[in-house]
Amino acid sequence: MLKGSCCCGAVQFRLSEPPAMMGTCHCTRCRKIGASTFVFVKRESFSLIEGAAFITTYQPDAPYQYKRCFCSRCGTALGEITSSLASFPIAANCFDDVLSISNQFHEFVKEKPDWYSICDEAQQFLEHPHT
Ligand SMILES: [Zn+2]
Ligand SMILES: [Zn+2]
Repeated sequence: MLKGSCCCGAVQFRLSEPPAMMGTCHCTRCRKIGASTFVFVKRESFSLIEGAAFITTYQPDAPYQYKRCFCSRCGTALGEITSSLASFPIAANCFDDVLSISNQFHEFVKEKPDWYSICDEAQQFLEHPHT
């Protein structure tokens, strides 16, 4: 079991099984939100322990479609933890326990700022890996 929480501890969740994929998105949106490195978790492995009332959702304007969740008290980016999809991303930053995987790819590298250097061997994609 893996535990995760926001900075202030109001939002707490756990995963019954470790995530199988970790990636890093260098797009301007993920960068500003502060959740560039994320893991994909299976819906059935995720449970919210507490803090549902503190989860605020940002719904972006079209053409962007992915909602982003935050703790309304401390601002920690949580990823898409309220998603109803079978699999969804959670910000890797908010795990309290050690994740057994490391970053597997970089996406939207074309938007990466010059001040950030990629220092791992993971595969790089200029945009989304599926395009
Ligand atoms: Zn918080
Ligand atoms: Zn992104």
